[in-house]
Amino acid sequence: MLKTNWHTHTYRCGHAVGTDEEYVVKALQAGLTTLGFSDHAPYKVPCSSERMDYSQYEDYKHSILSLKKKYQEKINIFLGMEVECYRDQWDDLSRYRREMDYCILGQHNLDLDTNSSYGFTQSWQLEEYVDRIEYACAHGLCDYVAHPDVCMYSYPAMDESVRKIAEKIADISIKYDMPMELNAGSGVRYGMHRYQDGMRYAYPTRMFFEEFAKRRTKIIVGLDIHDPGLFKTDKYINRALSVIEGLDCNIISNYDLVKAAKKRKKTFF
Ligand SMILES: [Zn+2]
Ligand SMILES: [Zn+2]
Repeated sequence: MLKTNWHTHTYRCGHAVGTDEEYVVKALQAGLTTLGFSDHAPYKVPCSSERMDYSQYEDYKHSILSLKKKYQEKINIFLGMEVECYRDQWDDLSRYRREMDYCILGQHNLDLDTNSSYGFTQSWQLEEYVDRIEYACAHGLCDYVAHPDVCMYSYPAMDESVRKIAEKIADISIKYDMPMELNAGSGVRYGMHRYQDGMRYAYPTRMFFEEFAKRRTKIIVGLDIHDPGLFKTDKYINRALSVIEGLDCNIISNYDLVKAAKKRKKTFF
């Protein structure tokens, strides 16, 4: 069903399985025509369970570029990275921005290895989270925002503070013409969870997409895939789509992210 996926991990991040080539082969079998690799970016402090190590970076580039050449007649392969907006890691981020075809923003923490976005329970944490996203968009760090609602993972209820944050992120998306992702990864893979105000997936969350739909922000479906075996199933895409059922979302499927990245890099540098 999906022809393009920009959100693909590799074993280097420490929580994905399979070889790089298996991702390509399985994506081909599933009918994809464009496959973007976007593994978790390495930073100064190693963390073998969350992101690749510096020592793996050259191999990552080399491996994906080799596959791009090997499979060029069959599928468009691009080299990308999933980065966070950490202002004290800007040297590394600049290097990835220069060397990658594109970058996606997955703001997993407010700061390197602290203040996890999976643990927010207070509205000020959401405000900080939005600040990081706005800084990244304003400085041309990324080409789309992965799971913009990952900040809802632990948030107890979809209250007015959440509505305000969703509105802010939707406004940022419009202001910087920045696509937002409907994530079909682990937020839906592990089923619904009970929160104070009822059952829902950790993310995506309907309230965010209500605001995205109102403003017609660009939305890209991303598999956030960590296992090549999952390319062939629509189960998780369907779960993500069920969250936004009935909303008039502006899902774009033929967006040229690499072309957009070339333009955004001019903002960054
Ligand atoms: Zn991951
Ligand atoms: Zn990811």
